[in-house]
Amino acid sequence: MTSVKEIVGEMTGATSEDITFVEKAYEYSKKAHEGQARYSGEPYFIHAAATAKMLAEYGMDATTIAAGLLHDAIEDARVSREEVEKEFGKELLFIVDGVTKLGTHKYRGAERHAESLRRLLVATASDIRVLIVKLADRYHNMQTLEHVPEHKRRRIALETLEIYAPIADRLGMGKMKRDLEDLAFPYVDPDAARHTAELRKLKTKETENGLAKVQRELKKELAKKGLTTFRTDIRMKGLWSLHQKLKRKRDDISLIHDIAALRIVVPSIEDCYTTLGTVHALYKPLPGEFKDYIAFPKPNGYQSLHTTVVTPEAGIVEIQIRNEEMHRRAQFGIASHMSYKQLGKNVEKLDKEIQKSRFSSLSFSWIRSLIPSLMKVSKKDGNAKSATNVPSWLSELAEAHAEVAGSEEFVEGLKEDFFSHRVFVFTPQGDVIDLPAASTPIDFAYAIHSDLGDHLQGAKVNGKLVSFETRLGNGEVVEILRKDSAHPSPKWLEIARTSLARRHIRAALGMSEAERPHQPSHGHRTRRAGRK
Ligand code: MN
Repeated sequence: MTSVKEIVGEMTGATSEDITFVEKAYEYSKKAHEGQARYSGEPYFIHAAATAKMLAEYGMDATTIAAGLLHDAIEDARVSREEVEKEFGKELLFIVDGVTKLGTHKYRGAERHAESLRRLLVATASDIRVLIVKLADRYHNMQTLEHVPEHKRRRIALETLEIYAPIADRLGMGKMKRDLEDLAFPYVDPDAARHTAELRKLKTKETENGLAKVQRELKKELAKKGLTTFRTDIRMKGLWSLHQKLKRKRDDISLIHDIAALRIVVPSIEDCYTTLGTVHALYKPLPGEFKDYIAFPKPNGYQSLHTTVVTPEAGIVEIQIRNEEMHRRAQFGIASHMSYKQLGKNVEKLDKEIQKSRFSSLSFSWIRSLIPSLMKVSKKDGNAKSATNVPSWLSELAEAHAEVAGSEEFVEGLKEDFFSHRVFVFTPQGDVIDLPAASTPIDFAYAIHSDLGDHLQGAKVNGKLVSFETRLGNGEVVEILRKDSAHPSPKWLEIARTSLARRHIRAALGMSEAERPHQPSHGHRTRRAGRK
């Protein structure tokens, strides 16, 4: 069992007050869960302690770690909310409330599920730490999934793949995403998981020696350039993501070049580009495979240089180059920005980095919005309701889904808006609008303002007039032409991609939920429509 020492040991930079707070939560939770057992037969408290330890490893603050310890206390150990508030404060209660699943008497089955998820999201919109506790909770549950009754395993694993791993990805928590996916994969598709693991093992053996040689050669060359303080490691692609890629490449493993990648972590951004030059001078790059995610970060903030080169020793190899800061962020994502360990130390540095390039500053706007409030994180007087430390896309999402009626539509809408890939487009003023992939000018207009959507007359992409069906691409500049006499037409419902736009269009058309027209691509929606 994880001891309180192990948890506190991870809390570098914590005050003695912080430590006392966590110790108190540890003892309290241990007592509250006394006599309860997990499916494995082990004491229930093991789960609470493991969740808290992970939060400590992620560098979270004392309140979050204590919330990890107490996250199941109200639901499973029948401690009252009043008592938790009295002992540990409003802020901790808010986090625990957000994570708590709903009671079984009010909701059942899928509905209980959707309602719990909705509640989680709404709470997250006020305090992102709710979601981070939930992910740590889910992580430990996935690690111990084998003990859960068989009929529940697949559902839990699927939910992890479809909802929690994409959330982790969206928050830039690369390590969490990959671990959740690989823990879930064998329960969702055991045969494919075995097959993929065998393929990867084979490939690993094949390339290991070659990659070690490449590593040595690069070290020598980089030393000539004066670069000596760097480290390299070999990262194997996650099984689930390898499986997804194999499906796209018709199961032809020879077409996948990033099963094993060589990662080089250097001190500065400049060193990244120097290293890239050295790599390309040494090995021929494959054309079209180079990606500069430093100048153009991924929507979730991921930064690195990726290139694929042909090496005599190891064949075609992907090489990833980044600095320490990028490496940490690629692993821990949003949590790394909230980390106690890093507060103050790196915020200034990060801010400078963000300002360096126009594009990265735009893509990082949501992280930027975190920073001022992060400086003030405090467990005593924090106002749990303040929505300041939450990325705007997240709070908007929660808002957009807050009044959706049916639980099925809620989850489906969520999956569509949140869990599919995103595109970043620009207003003529240079503001970034973050939309799901395949969004159209209609979605763009409604994302800016419902009035703009309701009076959408035309749209220009990169200065050219386009039709409403046009799918917007990353980095495009979209201009909306507005006219008072313009109004939505029923056809727009088929074109719009986001549930936000569809809701506004329905409202403008004066339609009730039950009158929604048939949508061929969303069969389940029409099935529901007749039920009301
Ligand atoms: Mn739990």
